[in-house]
Amino acid sequence: MIETKAYAAQDEKTPLAPWTFERREVGAHDVQFDILFCGVCHSDLHQIKNDWFPGIFPMVPGHEIVGRVIKVGDHVKKFKVGDLAGTGCMVDSCRVCENCKQDLEQYCLKGSSQTYNGLEQDHKTPTYGGYSNTIVVNEDFVLHISKDADLAAVAPLLCAGITTYSPLRYWKVGKGHKLAVLGLGGLGHMAVKFGVAFGAEVTVLSTSPKKEADAKRLGAHHFVVTTDKAQVKAAKGTFDFILDTVSAEHDFNMYLSLLRTNGTHICVGVPPNAAEIKAFSLLDGRKSLAGSGIGGIKETQEMLDYCAANNIVSDIEMIDIKDIQNAYDRMVKGDVRYRFVIDMATL
Ligand code: NAP
Ligand code: ZN
Repeated sequence: MIETKAYAAQDEKTPLAPWTFERREVGAHDVQFDILFCGVCHSDLHQIKNDWFPGIFPMVPGHEIVGRVIKVGDHVKKFKVGDLAGTGCMVDSCRVCENCKQDLEQYCLKGSSQTYNGLEQDHKTPTYGGYSNTIVVNEDFVLHISKDADLAAVAPLLCAGITTYSPLRYWKVGKGHKLAVLGLGGLGHMAVKFGVAFGAEVTVLSTSPKKEADAKRLGAHHFVVTTDKAQVKAAKGTFDFILDTVSAEHDFNMYLSLLRTNGTHICVGVPPNAAEIKAFSLLDGRKSLAGSGIGGIKETQEMLDYCAANNIVSDIEMIDIKDIQNAYDRMVKGDVRYRFVIDMATL
């Protein structure tokens, strides 16, 4: 077994603290890579707090993982020692269901193995994430990272990147579309970059007036402060798509009113509690309410390659792992510009 250093939550009430555990030995189809950087996703915080469902503790969060390969199994074909490598939100899936066969492992009908707070495909062994010094992953769930990349700024692409890229591609958002990005945080700022790159007219809908200059710098064409009634009124009935990245309770009916006829509100943010949706908010203007979860492995590689070719990375603030709690506190206040990334050398 491989002794692994990490930061873990022992339960939903205790702050993260150093912890050691054992990862499996490198199997024939496994890649082991040492973790250099790991992004901090709001999902990490939701899961440590049991916001969505009771978690598996001790919990080592982190699913925006990049590093360098130090060992490969005998049958590994895609990686060699010294390569850069990344892993996102999944480390395995059943591979044989209808969805896995269509490169949609994130919707595996038997349940994909989440990178942490999940179980391996034996449905018994817990998984531990990227707030750790090393990881062992089946090569089919390891991504190639361009060697020219700013590695720390690439890490967030593995969740924030693919989670916003995938729905924009699925709904073919681009030229001629008015796209609103709701919430300018980790996911939101990537959605702005992709929306602009795909040719859409992008508006940021934000509760934080002080983020306007950043939104414009990221490429957004317009900025609406959602606490300003006059600005919201002026935006009514204007968007083809809203990509909703909000992590907390919000009024879907109000945002649905900002869509044009036939518009689509796409949820990627996952607030802890259920929302109330009025049927009238949807039927008046034949609107759709939809959702999207991360992305499959093939599409994640496509997104990474697209970002490498188009110089797209995340805007990051690097932190020492001992400051993780402070990063979470700032995240809850919406004070993220625009993704915290842990320098794992500080572990
Ligand atoms: P984040 O960096 O904290 O950004 C969330 C943003 O939402 C905040 O910066 C803030 O932007 C806005 N916001 C927060 N509270 C709000 C409120 N009460 N009303 C309106 N806006 C509010 O979080 P993230 O890492 O981007 O993650 C966002 C959500 O996506 C989380 O729920 C996360 O779990 C989820 N997620 C889903 C997937 C998926 O597969 N679907 C993948 C990853 C993450 P402003 O300051 O601009 O208002
Ligand atoms: Zn995430």
